[in-house]
Amino acid sequence: MKQILMTTIVFTLILSGIIAANRQPMKSIIDRFLHPNYGTCGCCKMTWYSVDGHSTPYAWSGDEYISQTPDGKLSFSKTKPKDVPSALIKSHPVRLMFPLCETCWGKLTPSQRLPYYRALWEEWNKGEKVPGKEYANWNDIEKSVLEGN
Ligand SMILES: [Zn+2]
Repeated sequence: MKQILMTTIVFTLILSGIIAANRQPMKSIIDRFLHPNYGTCGCCKMTWYSVDGHSTPYAWSGDEYISQTPDGKLSFSKTKPKDVPSALIKSHPVRLMFPLCETCWGKLTPSQRLPYYRALWEEWNKGEKVPGKEYANWNDIEKSVLEGN
């Protein structure tokens, strides 16, 4: 009986140490243990299995015209096509990122959110650049975050 009590006390102390060292709530530690293959919120460290990421657009399509060619295919163009009925589609996001969950995003101000976006952007830019690959521009991300997206 005494041995079980000692084991429990030692285990609790070790666990408390781990939690204190990580400065994260037990909930997120368990969550990551249960879902090791999921990415996490940069702030609360909960996995994308358990929380929804807040999607922030940082690149937009720009306004486009959509029209139908005589053979029935859809065509997209930045300029209004002549002699073909077309509709203007307002700019829509073409690139998104989500370093924070909806809850954390809502608790932080735009400038408090920036370090989490910067950390993810730096993570994307680690290692050697792949020739021909398009990389996200930090200035576009920073502008979008500060605009409250
Ligand atoms: Zn979070």
